[in-house]
Amino acid sequence: MANAVLKVQAPQLREIQSHYAPFITDKTPPGGVFTAKLPNCTITAYKSGKVLFQGNGAEQEAQRWGTTESSAPAKGPSASSLPANFHLKSVIGSDEVGTGDFFGPITVVAAYVSKEQIPLLKELGVRDSKDLKDPKIIEIARQLLHIVPYSLIILHNPKYNDLQKSGMSQGKMKAILHNKAIQNVLNKIAPEEPEAILIDQFVEGPTYYKHVAQQKEVVKKNVFFSTKGESIHLSVAAASIIARYAFLREMDKLGKKVGVELPKGAGKHVDIAAAKIIQSQGTDVLKDLTKHHFANTEKAIRLAHK
Ligand code: MN
Repeated sequence: MANAVLKVQAPQLREIQSHYAPFITDKTPPGGVFTAKLPNCTITAYKSGKVLFQGNGAEQEAQRWGTTESSAPAKGPSASSLPANFHLKSVIGSDEVGTGDFFGPITVVAAYVSKEQIPLLKELGVRDSKDLKDPKIIEIARQLLHIVPYSLIILHNPKYNDLQKSGMSQGKMKAILHNKAIQNVLNKIAPEEPEAILIDQFVEGPTYYKHVAQQKEVVKKNVFFSTKGESIHLSVAAASIIARYAFLREMDKLGKKVGVELPKGAGKHVDIAAAKIIQSQGTDVLKDLTKHHFANTEKAIRLAHK
């Protein structure tokens, strides 16, 4: 069996990864980024920047990527593999809100912040939304909506519950929505192009691309993933603020519909609120208000019948 090893930089590793995205398997070894299985070659990429090609097609596949021997391997957390001065670039950032909340939808936002807008956004107080209280988020978001090109996608509870029942993971839902929102913003700003796209990371890149593989259009060019994206580029912070704003608004609407103020999160207080709703309106209404597969449903039903 033939072997070939390449050493590549992070951007090329991502390129290789997206090239083999349709062939990526579930099994990734320790320290690995992805494993892809072709009919005549298995490709394993490592965080160190090493890419191992094994099998009869190894030489041939490896040659596709040249012999880019590099002295500086990419390593460390994903943020360190971003291009230099990333925070100063013109970037589309994306983030989502609501994934851990029993009540309410998932809101996903992609927003474009050009480098010229960065000082203005700072002035407006755009920063990590986790450091901001709801009234401040609403105030900043209302201004942002007029300033940055963005796309907001809301996955309402009935649709969410249908997808979940059909076997789709929350990760896949999110990946599809991020891809779509980013595509929308690219269309909005065309012919202008961002220097990069930063997705606030919720899965590893290979899994993300596996999730979106069936989509009509998959955005891959200059796409980066990073955890704590809000602190890496203001576009992610802006996206996060708009997503939070939209989530709060939807919670408000839903709450008015059932005549109860709906709590956030998935803790005990949420079980209690849900139990009260069950007692007054029955269990079925939860399907329109909640992420029904959460354990909160069972707990609320038990509470309601005590
Ligand atoms: Mn996030």
